[in-house]
Amino acid sequence: MSPVFPPLREELQGIEPYGAPQLSLEQAPVQLNVNENPYGPSPEATADIARAVGEAAVSLNRYPDREFVELRTALAAYLDTSGGTGVTAEMVWAANGSNEVMLQLLQAFGGPGRVALSFAPTYSMYPEYARDTMTEWVAGHRAEDFSLDLDAARQLVLERQPSVVLLPSPNNPTGTALPPEAVTMLCEAAASYEPGGLVVVDEAYGEFRRAGTPSALELLPRHRNLVVTRTMSKAFALAGARLGYLAADPAICDAIRVVRLPYHLSAVTQATALAALRHAPELLGRVDDLRAERDETVTWLREQGFEVADSDANFVLFGRFADRHAVWQGLVDRGVLIRETGPDGWLRVSVGTPDEMAAFRQALLDTIDTTEEPA
Ligand SMILES: *Cc1c(COP(=O)(O)O)cnc(C)c1O
Repeated sequence: MSPVFPPLREELQGIEPYGAPQLSLEQAPVQLNVNENPYGPSPEATADIARAVGEAAVSLNRYPDREFVELRTALAAYLDTSGGTGVTAEMVWAANGSNEVMLQLLQAFGGPGRVALSFAPTYSMYPEYARDTMTEWVAGHRAEDFSLDLDAARQLVLERQPSVVLLPSPNNPTGTALPPEAVTMLCEAAASYEPGGLVVVDEAYGEFRRAGTPSALELLPRHRNLVVTRTMSKAFALAGARLGYLAADPAICDAIRVVRLPYHLSAVTQATALAALRHAPELLGRVDDLRAERDETVTWLREQGFEVADSDANFVLFGRFADRHAVWQGLVDRGVLIRETGPDGWLRVSVGTPDEMAAFRQALLDTIDTTEEPA
């Protein structure tokens, strides 16, 4: 017998890498599977980004600013105008996507002998950060309507004393936003034991919240163990640039500097993000259209008799299907790619342009005709 090759960590052997199927535009012209903004950056933003990257290219022989002070200052200014009053550059940290930001949080605050905790169904990357940092993973459960039972959640935190609690708001894949009292209650619970835990509110979809749903950014001054993560991948229409960030107590940002790789944010990324932030109003300009399209999609799906989760995000979880894979495949066969994710029987569709959503509705009706009724 030859030894196992390559000599992978035992707990990683046989595991498929995470990732939604990526089909070409010929295979699936309507791509509604990874919650991207369907509207690309404006011509003005594109030109400014190209110019900024051109300027950065002149000094690519040099390492970039390791502390990316200019970008942190610009991100703080952006947050200051969008719910995060008083956020300063020392309170901001960024990396290549908010996935990297959260991995860095687990590298710094998780680890062997420590616990990371969330409530399922939730983002499938969270247990992977825990696995990769050898942090114990604990998953509580959401209620039938995907909301959090606050007393049970608090109880679980007190019992397991996690070092990091990961709470997406709105949640992926359900679209459920957290009420501010949930964040407050869990921050207080996680501050009540030694040495305490961080509560990370992942607001990747924060900009799509319905009116009246506040951002956890507003609670930052009250809880020093609160971390709010954001990304330029979704509402900001910049998934390809890979830029995510957080706002938190400056001591938390300082601690992450211990685990980050040297010069992790390239000069090209920094220039791209800075240029994009100068065009924030344009890049975010379609968010209201997408929220309206989302609400119409929820209404239409309910009219067809589907079960639909309330959504504060740019996607909708709907079901339930006895054979969801057959429905997913039926849509792919008709050129529409959505996501097979979430609890058994449910599917998730990202909100696209009106034309894309019309194609989705037609493909779904045709598919259901030939496969099944909602279970
Ligand atoms: C898309 C998404 C992110 C953002 O990922 P990036 O790495 O910033 O592209 C973070 N959290 C959740 C729950 C997401 O769905």
